[in-house]
Amino acid sequence: MQKEYSLIINGEQVAGGRGTFDVINPATEEVVSACPYATVEQLNDAVDAADEAFKTWQYSSDEERKQALHRIADGIEANAAELAEVIVKEQGKPMFLAQAEVGGAVAWTRYTADLEIPVEVLEDSDNKRIELHRKPLGVVGSITPWNWPLMIAVWHIMPALRTGNTVVCKPSGLTPLNTILLAEIISKEVPAGVMNLVTGESGIGSAITGHEKIRKIVFTGSTPTGQAIMRNAAGNLKRLTLELGGNDAGIILPDADVNAIAEGIFQTAFLNMGQTCAALKRLYVHDSQYDQVCEKLVELANAQTVGDGMAEGTTFGPVQNKDQFDLVKDLVDDAKANGASVLCGGQPLEGKGFFYPPTIVANVTDDMRIVAEEQFGPTLPVIRYSDIDDAVERANRCDVGLGGSVWSSDIEGAQKIAQRLECGTAWINGHAEVLPHAPFGGCKMSGFGVEFGQEGLLEYTVPQTLNINK
Ligand code: NAD
Repeated sequence: MQKEYSLIINGEQVAGGRGTFDVINPATEEVVSACPYATVEQLNDAVDAADEAFKTWQYSSDEERKQALHRIADGIEANAAELAEVIVKEQGKPMFLAQAEVGGAVAWTRYTADLEIPVEVLEDSDNKRIELHRKPLGVVGSITPWNWPLMIAVWHIMPALRTGNTVVCKPSGLTPLNTILLAEIISKEVPAGVMNLVTGESGIGSAITGHEKIRKIVFTGSTPTGQAIMRNAAGNLKRLTLELGGNDAGIILPDADVNAIAEGIFQTAFLNMGQTCAALKRLYVHDSQYDQVCEKLVELANAQTVGDGMAEGTTFGPVQNKDQFDLVKDLVDDAKANGASVLCGGQPLEGKGFFYPPTIVANVTDDMRIVAEEQFGPTLPVIRYSDIDDAVERANRCDVGLGGSVWSSDIEGAQKIAQRLECGTAWINGHAEVLPHAPFGGCKMSGFGVEFGQEGLLEYTVPQTLNINK
């Protein structure tokens, strides 16, 4: 029997007050399942439940919350096969990648469970002791995108719970089902009202970001939505963590060993069919190596097996949704019309599904849309440079700054250049790698605040200075 998906409000599974909407499989364009469509009144119920639960959950012991997170990790592990299958069907990525996403969700949950919330002693003298404590904020609203839906929900929810907040999560309407399963797993391990989930689109997102009882929004998604959220969150001065879009540049230095780095470049540019916030999206290559790099990348692209993520042997899935698919197609067509060379791919596959093969575009200039805009899809523009200072300046000439990378055999030289990149994370001989202990976030219009590590954890807290006159 097909599973029925529900909202989760105050520990109960509840049907959507506005009925359901369909979740589409991007590989087949068929309906995966119906998803409940919440009303704004149901969202208000969820926030009320979270607000009520916060009254006691904020005083739960550190140990209690650590144990809860470990039990949640056990629950994710126990349901790993179902979660991975749902991710493939609604998101489109190949099975091995969905399994990696579930594995990442477990690892991040356990890591977050074991983080400590510090108490700093600022003074301890004869007359005075000053301590800096960290308190939870209250109800946290989490709004997630469709590219790594399970992983990003875990990144939002676990640090919120670990620090004693309660949560109302709204996943993307394009990929909500895995997050409903996650919320079911979580709600079994925490008191009613601590974890709530609502699904539905128009009106729900803005009702969350404007809600007077929500104290913080953690949002991962596009820059325009982030700007709308920031405006809407001003009413009660919500704390914000905004993880927004990027247009990451990678620079290959002339001393790099192209054969050694090509695979790393390809994988980090096309990770999740390029639908990764910190994927390599613009590649700057020195004149002396330009043809060799293009040739290697084309070889790797042609070796991919594009198909349904559920099929054996698929290494490359569809684009997640029609809008994104159309955008990628437009950007490649625009580059072609303006004189760029499409070295491989460049045409959607015929038949059902939003399949667009990995596409390498050469002879591009910085002003072409494919370079200037975030593609967030399976295409990589390769851009020529002859002077490294010029390459750095062009890499930085954009209003977002999530990640960046330098590829070279000279680690010290590469580091000097990487530190000049205007981005939240700079990698050397790598890209797009995120780790639970390394703070991750953007600068410029890629947002603010970080996730992961202790810095990320503390974003879910407010400092309280305890000033004791002895
Ligand atoms: P999106 O901004 O369209 O949607 C993200 C979420 O916001 C969805 O749940 C959506 O329903 C909700 N939403 C839409 N309008 C809203 C509003 N007015 N108020 C509140 N919520 C609203 O983004 P997307 O298309 O789902 O994701 C792709 C984008 O996300 C890309 O730009 C990508 O770079 C970015 N992204 C960033 C990171 C990061 O960590 N920086 C990670 C993943 C994706």
